[in-house]
Amino acid sequence: MPSTETWTLEEVRQRGFAEALAEVTPLAVIGYPVRHSLSPVMHRAALDLLARIAPEFQRWQYHRIEANAESLPELLERLHRAGFRGLNLTLPHKVEVLPLLTGIAPEAEVMGAVNTLVFGASGYFGTNTDGYGFSRAVKEELGRELGKAPLVLLGAGGAARAIAMQAMIEGCPEIWIGNRSRSRLQELVNLLAPILREGQSLKSFSLREPPTLPSNTLIVNATSLGLKPEDACPLPVDKLSPEHSPGMALFDTTYGRHESQLVKAARAQGIPAVQGLGMLTWQGARSLEIWTGREVDGSVMREAALKALTGAE
Ligand code: NDP
Repeated sequence: MPSTETWTLEEVRQRGFAEALAEVTPLAVIGYPVRHSLSPVMHRAALDLLARIAPEFQRWQYHRIEANAESLPELLERLHRAGFRGLNLTLPHKVEVLPLLTGIAPEAEVMGAVNTLVFGASGYFGTNTDGYGFSRAVKEELGRELGKAPLVLLGAGGAARAIAMQAMIEGCPEIWIGNRSRSRLQELVNLLAPILREGQSLKSFSLREPPTLPSNTLIVNATSLGLKPEDACPLPVDKLSPEHSPGMALFDTTYGRHESQLVKAARAQGIPAVQGLGMLTWQGARSLEIWTGREVDGSVMREAALKALTGAE
């Protein structure tokens, strides 16, 4: 199958899956839109590597399926019957899938979002590897541990939820969350407040009035600002002052061919700053570990994703 192929629900309906997939172990990412997804190239690169060690992985495949929220129940049923091992879910399915699950990991339940499905005899088990992906990328690329320093999180959407939850699980001492809309910010604070541990503090702010950043802060952009090159910074650049707040570092969850304005501004001040490709890589690696039961080399997935992103040979 060409790596660029994207199936629709209609194509899934028309395929003679039972026959075509009898000899393979299929996986897929489902989303709407999904044509831009780097997951197939990442997962195929990792499966190729696994197949060198264990030949059974030669029969594993990873597909891309574009389907809207209304199609999800039918699609899951068809793919389950066809013998799919599991799925990655992206927008809008991370939340829409919840009523269809037969089991859910506790942190995904609190978050109210699932990005990985494992198909079993009795149905679909949901978990979320975004938080793990974020934490691992922060460790690999910034050399920092989430539990050791304050976190200032910009955004309160799906990505921010996963990041805040992971920071809490890892014992982050001080979590600040800022968002444009008050309602979404309050929703996230309400979700996290009951699971705060002793010694942890949780504070919120409006993006228009960010606080003075504590020393050693890890700033995380989890707003959509930065996806396009012309997007403004979600934080006034004068907040990025290593003199006032020494030891800070920046993780921008957005990724693309360009550097975000925020990353540019931080690097101009000598602040270590990275974009979100590592988070994507490690969430994918963790999903594949769950499906295969094998340790997965994230670096090979990152390399494949970067090549696809930059169009490099
Ligand atoms: P959501 O739609 O759930 O949340 C979007 C967030 O961005 C909200 O907090 C929203 O604020 C904020 N926002 C949107 N536009 C603006 C604006 N003009 N000014 C200020 N804030 C704004 O999306 P996700 O959480 O899924 O995704 C957020 C970002 O994270 C995206 O850039 C996405 O690419 C990235 N991401 C990266 C991943 C990775 O693996 N690297 C994984 C998942 C996401 P409001 O509530 O006010 O609307």
